[in-house]
Amino acid sequence: MSSNLSKVLESQRQAFNQAPNSAWSERKAKLKKLGEVIKTHEAEFQKTISEDFGNRAYVETTLAETMVIQGGISHALKHTPKWMRTRSAPTAMQYKPGSNKVVPQPLGVIGIISPWNYPLQLAVMPLIGALGAGNRVMIKPSEYTPKFSDLLKEVLGKVFSDDEVHVAVGGVKVAQEFSSLPFDHLIFTGSTNVGRIVAQAAAKNLTPVTLELGGKSPTIIDDSADMATAVARITNGKLLNAGQTCVAPDYVLMPSAKIDAFSDAMIEQAETFYPKFAGNDDYTSIIADNHYARLQTLLEDAENKGARIRTAGDDDKQQLAKERRVPLTIVTDTTPDMKIMQEEIFGPLLPVVASENLDDALDYVQKRERPLALYWFGKDKRKQQKVLTQSISGGVSVNDVAWHVIQEDIPFGGVGPSGMGAYHGEDGFKTFSHMKGVFFQSKFSAGKMLHPPYGPKTEKLLNMMKKMI
Ligand code: NAD
Repeated sequence: MSSNLSKVLESQRQAFNQAPNSAWSERKAKLKKLGEVIKTHEAEFQKTISEDFGNRAYVETTLAETMVIQGGISHALKHTPKWMRTRSAPTAMQYKPGSNKVVPQPLGVIGIISPWNYPLQLAVMPLIGALGAGNRVMIKPSEYTPKFSDLLKEVLGKVFSDDEVHVAVGGVKVAQEFSSLPFDHLIFTGSTNVGRIVAQAAAKNLTPVTLELGGKSPTIIDDSADMATAVARITNGKLLNAGQTCVAPDYVLMPSAKIDAFSDAMIEQAETFYPKFAGNDDYTSIIADNHYARLQTLLEDAENKGARIRTAGDDDKQQLAKERRVPLTIVTDTTPDMKIMQEEIFGPLLPVVASENLDDALDYVQKRERPLALYWFGKDKRKQQKVLTQSISGGVSVNDVAWHVIQEDIPFGGVGPSGMGAYHGEDGFKTFSHMKGVFFQSKFSAGKMLHPPYGPKTEKLLNMMKKMI
């Protein structure tokens, strides 16, 4: 193990141990500095992330990264003093007059491993939770966004000392070394496959992990849905960041009679949003050649196995390939043996699968791995309730896609293969804190009557206590 990262961890731990419970004033100052430095460098982040992608719409960097971060910081500034407070907890009758309290404590040093798709948001949102909870932090951003990672290191280095926040740049070797460090908590955002490897590395140190993973997020369109609204919102959510979003709708389930009209409307909507895909600054490129090739392979495989493909726009194919831009592509007549129906797509390809009623749709979802997100479009409240209670997913947006992710007042996280644990808002604070239970014994405690040697008096007291349960 390179000793450099271990040394940083050691210095952070030493600094933490010297002042293990920082005051709110100190945490507040850190959160404010973080917000200000990101605001000052917003234009550089837009430019750098765009360069790493080939093109990333500047508006998307603001909408899905810096604005989300500023919202997270402002929420944390408002609520953390309340979350930090020692709180009284009820005490069962048989243990009174003792009393209980819960004391939130920082954990120590938090490790953050982040992906490339929203590189700033996914490195900084966990940082907000970790700093608000009073920890020191080490961050390992993705090697797919090297310019951004260097900028993040430079920008955070302006306001934090290395023993407060350290950014470790580098490739998979650095990531492997990073995940084997004995952090007090490790949060990993990335693919399910790498998540498995990271969880194993952390287990060697018994480091607790939060895993924010991916998967195939279904969208169920009910007969009662307003189709025009659904089409506009799904197109927008699917094409944001060119589909390279962990909670992007991966596939659609809807009655077969409506599939053709829906698919044509999606194509038309995409062409309205993006009159041209090539050369359009509003439309984000695929991050790298290997991911571009992966998407082409998914399409070829589906086409070879009999799928029908509809592609938005009439851009020159070579130009699109040169810019790594993929227009919205609707895939119908799919079969389960197609790779596109098995792997997370993570791009602007959208299979539409026939499902005649809600029971069919729920059955389809239940038979597959638990997704990170699930979307339902419709007006029928009874069916809506059925979807919410009978499907298991990390989160849900009803009548839209992805919006639940940016709500600071609800937890964000996956379930099963789409992740474990959650953060954002108070859930982030709790994830990066130790919620320590403390029992205060009273001087009038009956405990001494329970000391050995046991006899009839013990028996009598136990009987009394049992009655109080
Ligand atoms: P990835 O798993 O390839 O990489 C994520 C991070 O892991 C990177 O920093 C990388 O350097 C590191 N890494 C790679 N190999 C490693 C190893 N052997 N040991 C330790 N670390 C290693 O994911 P990605 O391609 O960057 O991102 C796309 C995936 O992330 C998709 O599956 C997507 O759904 C998921 N994702 C999830 C969320 C969420 O919040 N749940 C958000 C964004 C992306």
